[in-house]
Amino acid sequence: MALADIPGQELAVKCLTRGLARARITHAYLFTGPEGVGQAEAALALAQALNCPASPREPCGTCNTCRRIAANNYPDVLEVVPEGNNIKIDQIRSLRKDIYFRPYEGKYKVYIISAAQQMTVQAANSLLCILEEPPSYAVLVLLTSQEDRLLPTIVSRCQKVPFYPLSPALMEDKLVGEMGLERERAGVVAALAAGSYVRARELVESGRARESHRRVMALAATICGGNEGERWLLGEEWGKAEELPLFLQQLLFWFRDLLILKETGAEELLLHRGEMPRLRQMAQCYSRRGLVASLEALREIMTLLTSNVNIGLALNVLMGQLEPDLSLTDGGGD
Ligand SMILES: [Zn+2]
Repeated sequence: MALADIPGQELAVKCLTRGLARARITHAYLFTGPEGVGQAEAALALAQALNCPASPREPCGTCNTCRRIAANNYPDVLEVVPEGNNIKIDQIRSLRKDIYFRPYEGKYKVYIISAAQQMTVQAANSLLCILEEPPSYAVLVLLTSQEDRLLPTIVSRCQKVPFYPLSPALMEDKLVGEMGLERERAGVVAALAAGSYVRARELVESGRARESHRRVMALAATICGGNEGERWLLGEEWGKAEELPLFLQQLLFWFRDLLILKETGAEELLLHRGEMPRLRQMAQCYSRRGLVASLEALREIMTLLTSNVNIGLALNVLMGQLEPDLSLTDGGGD
């Protein structure tokens, strides 16, 4: 993928192409921003641009060098990824050994350090020594989603290139175009992935997005059906689910849709556009105040998830809080 083709990251692409056009080589870059919004692709595209024999500025993407870089099979472009939870001192030591040999084939040796915040303190200090005086042919690209966890001395030696969460519309397009998702599902997945395409792809491929949808639809049916025993059972079932935060997030989006529908009637603003009959029916069972209270209850339980609260109990309370406050015949409400 050429730099210019990286979607939704105009600023980052501009930063990188401007440097390349002026043939002013930066020896250390820091790509910041949420995971999976194009940093890895940009790092490889930069490595291609630096080494492509066909063009010194825009990589051709088709020559032997470009293709091998894209396939992670080029001796002068190396990637360092965490082993387990950390990037260990030994990994940076081998980088240090390698970096002082001139490029084997290309013009530049490019080292891509993924999840750089996971370097141990020793590893970070070792990398710092390299950053103080990198060889003229070396370019280091550090990727991080948590810049504040890096040593400030490392950050200050790198040129920062910011990457941003992808817009929901762009994510939707990519999910439809590249993953073959139906448009109605893509909106929900994009929202659940909060701007990270890697996370969106993972949600789809693992089936977690589909399972979350199934659970939320089952719960929506039960809540509106008004059977307390069934609701209680669903609460029990959710309490045991590993994916509880994901389900709750989607349930929050569902109630957000209900409120938008009730307030504005604007279907194009809804995430669950594929479920219009159920949304319309359910919206009639709540007053505006009831929906706002439900959203607050959902936000509250999502904060509780990170504490030591008894989740089973909290979920049973939640199921009660989500109960409709109007009967169907009441119609509107306040
Ligand atoms: Zn090329």
